[in-house]
Amino acid sequence: MPGRTFVIIAGPDGAIRQLNQYCQSVTGLTPAQVQGQRVWEILPTPEHTESMRTGFLRAAAGDIPEDQRGYWRGRDGGMFPAHWGYSCLLDAEGGGMGVVVTGADLRLSNRMQAELTDALDRQQAILDTAVDGILTIDETGLIQSFNRAAERIFGYRAGEVVGRNVSMLMPQPYRAEHDGYLHNYQTTRRKKIIGIGREVEGLRKDGTTFPLELAVGEVVVSGQRIFTGIIRDITDRKQIELEARRRQDELAHLTRVHSMGDLAAGLAHEINQPLTAILGHSRACLRMIGAGTADMDLLRESMEQIARQGERAAEVIRRLRKYVEKGEIEKQPSDLPASVQEVLGLLQHELREHGVRVQVKAPSYLPPLLLDRVQIEQVLVNLVRNAVEAMAEARVEGPELELVLVQSEAPAGVRTSVVDNGPGFGAKQPDDLFAPFFTTKKSGLGQGLSICRRIVDAHGGRIWAESNQPRGAVFHVWLPLPARDGRNGGLRGAA
Ligand code: ADP
Repeated sequence: MPGRTFVIIAGPDGAIRQLNQYCQSVTGLTPAQVQGQRVWEILPTPEHTESMRTGFLRAAAGDIPEDQRGYWRGRDGGMFPAHWGYSCLLDAEGGGMGVVVTGADLRLSNRMQAELTDALDRQQAILDTAVDGILTIDETGLIQSFNRAAERIFGYRAGEVVGRNVSMLMPQPYRAEHDGYLHNYQTTRRKKIIGIGREVEGLRKDGTTFPLELAVGEVVVSGQRIFTGIIRDITDRKQIELEARRRQDELAHLTRVHSMGDLAAGLAHEINQPLTAILGHSRACLRMIGAGTADMDLLRESMEQIARQGERAAEVIRRLRKYVEKGEIEKQPSDLPASVQEVLGLLQHELREHGVRVQVKAPSYLPPLLLDRVQIEQVLVNLVRNAVEAMAEARVEGPELELVLVQSEAPAGVRTSVVDNGPGFGAKQPDDLFAPFFTTKKSGLGQGLSICRRIVDAHGGRIWAESNQPRGAVFHVWLPLPARDGRNGGLRGAA
């Protein structure tokens, strides 16, 4: 674009001799005004005076200096970005007679400016119609853009957040940690969230927090790293999940209450024994006292028996009450072998009545799991009762039940297997048994295994069945170990 090039001719000392027309029109200078003045004193803004002087004098001495960029003074008293270079004018003997400074105005032409604005407007319009919140941040975490959906989600106008640190959109402790994440990424380039979506927490302008799904991308534009975050508010989805979970808990509770009738018959029997013993001992005490022959040692012994049997009866009732209590949604660190013992205690009458030999195999140590204990015990009660019923129905000689606990490495968790030597599944597909309403029992509801599966799923685990060899059935329940970083992340921008 030669017509848009500045040309300035100056003597070897920098004194201006001629300016081309374009230079005059952009800078507003006339040849008369600048005659004899130094190029570097008149053209650039003060910050660039020194670099132009050095460049110019190097060219005058016959060197070929690098082109330069900087700001020049415009005709309106303002400044504009410019790009310029120097070339030495030589006389017939090859001596330097001056320097030509050629340069270009880096401002965009009106047309280009209009096209650029149009393209930016279009891009903004697309971003603004997006349903998801979209924001970009620079490498230091400062927000560069914030679309309309992001405004709606966070309750801020773009103008309130652009230029500020993205951590303002995160609740503590993530807010404080975020700069560390960015710094980590800059030094290690190890991606923790980039390219992966994750559920995190966001902070609205009104101070409320909400769950959101965040996907982070990374682009390098003109050597500058930019992170884009696409944000979806998942409050509604979480609400629906919570509601479904609540209903499931309700259903699980109902089936526990339903099975209480059966359990209570067995438990009544369990209570009868200590009660009979209590009666016997207290009558003996009364007799001794009535006859005036009370021996203190004998009395104490009987009273101790009464107390012990009373505790036994109370324990049976405690178990039943605990089993039918409404399960907490909250999962807590729990000891699975203790739950197995609890379940066997609850079902001891049933097991004894059917002559089932029970064996528990567990390693001496198992790490605690995050469990809704009541519900996991419900799963085990279901599996054990199903096995006992199947063996009783098939009139198995020497019914045996094994509960085997094994820790697994990858994925890390604990598998509990309930093994029986009953009739097994015959031609039935083991997985079909988990369908709701599938039952082969006259009074069966066909809900047991389907509820077991839902409970185990809600724990992030897996439940499945297979045939035992040479006969019988095995039901496996695998439950994961809690993740080391069990915490739900915050809005972790880029790293
Ligand atoms: P229900 O006990 O009301 O039938 P479940 O969902 O607990 O409902 O069980 C579904 C079916 O799975 C049972 O009716 C039975 O046919 C089969 N089943 C469950 N456990 C065993 C087992 N250990 N051996 C053989 N069949 C079993």
